Formats: sequence, C-alpha cells, structure tokens
Amino acid sequence: MQCEKCNGKAVITLQHGSLCKPHFITYFEEKVFKTINKFRLIDRKDKICIAASGGKDSLTVLYLTKKYLDHYHIPSEHLFALCVDEGIANYRQHTIIDLQEFCKEHKIPLKVITSQEEFGAPLDEAYPKINKDTKKKPCNVCGVFRRYILNKYARQEGATKVITGHNLDDEAQAIMMNMFKANTTLAGRLGPISGIHEQDGFVQRVKPLYKCTEKEVRLYTLLKGFKIDYTECPYSQLGFRHKVQVMLNDFEKDFRGTKQGIIKSYLAMLPLLKQHDQQTNDSIKSCKTCQEPSNKEICNACEMKEVLAQ
Ligand code: SF4
Ligand SMILES: [Zn+2]
Ligand SMILES: [Zn+2]
Repeated sequence: MQCEKCNGKAVITLQHGSLCKPHFITYFEEKVFKTINKFRLIDRKDKICIAASGGKDSLTVLYLTKKYLDHYHIPSEHLFALCVDEGIANYRQHTIIDLQEFCKEHKIPLKVITSQEEFGAPLDEAYPKINKDTKKKPCNVCGVFRRYILNKYARQEGATKVITGHNLDDEAQAIMMNMFKANTTLAGRLGPISGIHEQDGFVQRVKPLYKCTEKEVRLYTLLKGFKIDYTECPYSQLGFRHKVQVMLNDFEKDFRGTKQGIIKSYLAMLPLLKQHDQQTNDSIKSCKTCQEPSNKEICNACEMKEVLAQ
C-alpha cells in the first residue's frame, strides 16, 4: 500500500485513498480544525471545559483543542479538563493516571469529581441498588452520573462550552439507538453541538471529533505515541449501545461508508429535527430538588440519589 500523496508506505486506507503516517496526521488534524470552524464549536471568548477520562478520544480532543487554540492565538488559560471518576474498579483508576500525566505534560489544569462524593457511592455499588428498583443497566446509570456532574461542575467553574471526545462511530450509534427506541424527543439533540436550544443552567456540549471514525482516532493516538490504556470498561458489553456498535461494525465491513451515510443523512435532517424540538419542547425546566436543567420535575440524577439514600 502506497500513500496517494507521496508514494511512501501507507498506514491507513480511507474512502478516498491511502495515506502514510505524516499525511494521515495532517489529514486528521485538518479535519478536526475544519469541523471546529465549520460548526463554530469554539468562540474566542469561550471558557472551555474538556470532558476527559484518559481514554483515546478524550486525550485526542484535549491535545487538538490546545493545538487549535495555539494555532489561532486564542489564550488557553481559559481551558481546563474535568474528569468524572464513576467508580469502576480495575478500569477508571488506570485511565485517570494516564490523564493526570497527560494534563501535567501539556499544562492543562485538571479537576476530578467522583461519583462517591456527588452521589454517595461509586458506580460499582450504586448500579446494583438502582437496577433492583428500576432495571436500569450500568451504562444508563453511568450516563446520568456523568452528564450531571459534567454540567454542574463545568458551570460552577464558569465554562461556556463543554468539549467532548464523541467520534463519528459514537454519533452513528446514538442516532440508531434513538431510532430503535423511538426516542423522538431526543432525536434532534445530537449533532456537533448537543442540546436543543440554549437553556439556563445548561452548558452547551460540542464535538470536534464528530467527523473522525473510531479507527482514525485510534490510529492517531498510536502514531502520536500517546500513553493510553486501551482496556475496555467491564460493563461495556452489557449495554444496548454495544449491540448497535457490533451491528454497525458488521455493516461497515461489508458495506463501506455505512456510518458516514448515517451521519450525512442525520445532518441533512437536523435543521428540521431542531425546529420540531423547539416547537414541542418548551417544557424544559429546572429540577425542583437540585435546580439543574431537567425535562421532568425531579431530574434522573436526583431520583437515583433518592434510591441510593434508602
Ligand atoms: S461502558 Fe458504560 S459503564 Fe462503562 S464507562 Fe461507558 S457508559 Fe460508563
Ligand atoms: Zn504520504
Ligand atoms: Zn435534580
């Protein structure tokens, strides 16, 4: 395999051809910068919180956000990383060590909030209790914990944007999951900028890796030599997402471009979905207990806290 640009040894074959290491790195970084510019994900005045876990996506987005700010001479003193330690034994503690080292090396302030301090229990303990009452799977509980902590602490630190490491595969899975579960109210809340409209107390979430496939992100981290523990979360195979992930990977193997096709179709429909959401979602309010944004009287996080306090 030869690079289509320089005839050097190719490291990856993409839809439009093969690329060598330096040309792939340039292609990947340019794609991320273009995504940020095209969707206006970062504004000069933003105080940016990066949702980081120490995994490949979060380290890539941390590194490239810093690079983007430096490239456009945007002061990076308003940049910080926020990590949620959900409390998953033999997993999260390893990724947090990698994250701490990375942040130290790149001079990015890091704050770590644990589920223990916010919810009174690590996920490993909280999940069986919540599951008994609600039948919720670990990833559902984990997702509520993480979104709640991220929004609350990003806002407390004065952030105007939360940057996440969601890549193209994550997004294609989420689109299909909403379809399969007929989550029509959530359908318009994906996209490079999450959320329906600006809402008091909700810090907008943006996704610079929106156009990058999981395979590309993985290769980028390997070629850049980032120190990453590629171990998977022990709960990852129990969720609905995992089934959808396996299905899409299978499709992609036989029908190249399937995931790109899902994203392209979704982006074409997004303006209509957002419009529909705005017309039907004037009911977004604050949780009566914690005042965090919620579309119910009592938010999911407070409901879970109540179960855990019993
Ligand atoms: S796989 Fe599920 S439980 Fe594990 S970190 Fe991800 S969302 Fe949380
Ligand atoms: Zn080349
Ligand atoms: Zn609440």
